[in-house]
Amino acid sequence: MAERDTNLRADIIIHGGGIAGLWTLARLKNLGYDALLVEPNAIGGVQTIASQGIIHSGLKYAIGGKINALAREISAMPEVWREALSGSGPVDLSKAKRSAETQYMMIPKGVMGSILKIGAKSFFGTEVEKIKWPPEISVTGFEGSLVDMGEPVLDIPSVVRTLAEPYMSCIRKSADGVKAAKHIYTAAEGNDESGIETQRRPLLMGLLKNAPFPLWVHLVGASDKPAATITTHETKDGELVWYFGGQVAERGKNENPDDVYKAMFDALKKYMPLTEINDAELAVLPIDRIEAKPGVGALPDTPVLHNKGDRLYAWPTKLTFAPMMADKIVEELASQNISPSHNHSDWSFLPEVSYAQPPWEKAQWIKDKSDRQA
Ligand SMILES: Cc1cc2nc3c(=O)[nH]c(=O)nc-3n(C[C@H](O)[C@H](O)[C@H](O)COP(=O)(O)OP(=O)(O)OC[C@H]3O[C@@H](n4cnc5c(N)ncnc54)[C@H](O)[C@@H]3O)c2cc1C
Repeated sequence: MAERDTNLRADIIIHGGGIAGLWTLARLKNLGYDALLVEPNAIGGVQTIASQGIIHSGLKYAIGGKINALAREISAMPEVWREALSGSGPVDLSKAKRSAETQYMMIPKGVMGSILKIGAKSFFGTEVEKIKWPPEISVTGFEGSLVDMGEPVLDIPSVVRTLAEPYMSCIRKSADGVKAAKHIYTAAEGNDESGIETQRRPLLMGLLKNAPFPLWVHLVGASDKPAATITTHETKDGELVWYFGGQVAERGKNENPDDVYKAMFDALKKYMPLTEINDAELAVLPIDRIEAKPGVGALPDTPVLHNKGDRLYAWPTKLTFAPMMADKIVEELASQNISPSHNHSDWSFLPEVSYAQPPWEKAQWIKDKSDRQA
């Protein structure tokens, strides 16, 4: 048997194969770095594969006139992703699928709608675009305005595959014995050893299978958080799933799933009272959002990077910010004089790792037996 080379060396080892690690790998490989990504569980990560895939425009944060650094920084991101999707960005996402051109905001009739429009106007400098309702929404009984958020919604499993497939020989389950000039940790909860304080925001996301039509909406109400954010996903068997985030999901992971289902149906009843849902199956997904802690009660505005010796820890804060996070990493490497070797090692001899399953493929579905869907 051939002796294993004990002087194996990459330029960079990335730890963690969610969006943060995968985007960084593609970026570094394109720049000529001999990069290796280690993912001990599944390609596509934990939060990434469970995300709703919305590339936020910041308009959501303009609710009630809340124009902050987060809203301003994030407003540039949809264009960065659109470039990648067209194949003209620094990372090529041309094979990834877009689930929807945009997420809509449903603003019910009343004072709150005017406040929203004022906030949005001062953010974008123009009137927000009220749009003609798609036919399926016209028959839901919704009363109010529908606003185009300028937020593309991506099919995340296809984004993950598009990023990973060209580099499968560099994405491995472990990298025992391989050394590198720099280790980049994009490992979410695996970044805990960084010494940086992180925050975990628990969510109990709701899922509804056999949804009647595709829907991508923020249902906004009296709070600065949407009452519900609904995206639509298709199972391998072609069933439509509505995936509920927003206030519906903002609760402890151990709370009663029935409370999530009630909140989902209450939101639908309030905004779209005539929607008919038959043969629904329901499920929940308990999950944490993991972010570097910016200060008590606040959210970090942009990606967070933290250097510790030969290790660089990174949190994108949102999937939307992965390109900005990778740009910051590239700048950081340059400032530390860590240059690409332009070697392209084949790491296929290291153990392989498979893709993560999205929540709608592995959910424990239950039949909705309540009388609420009549
Ligand atoms: C339910 C939900 C919905 C969301 N929706 C949106 C949205 O619509 N738009 C948006 O912009 N953001 C959204 N987010 C936020 C977004 O998903 C995250 O900010 C982003 O996916 C984080 O990416 P990541 O790569 O850092 O983490 P993850 O995807 O969690 O990946 C981290 C990876 O690190 C691996 N790992 C752990 N420990 C180690 C170790 N020691 N060594 C190596 N690897 C390790 C894990 O196995 C995992 O694969 C959502 C989040 C959640 C939870």
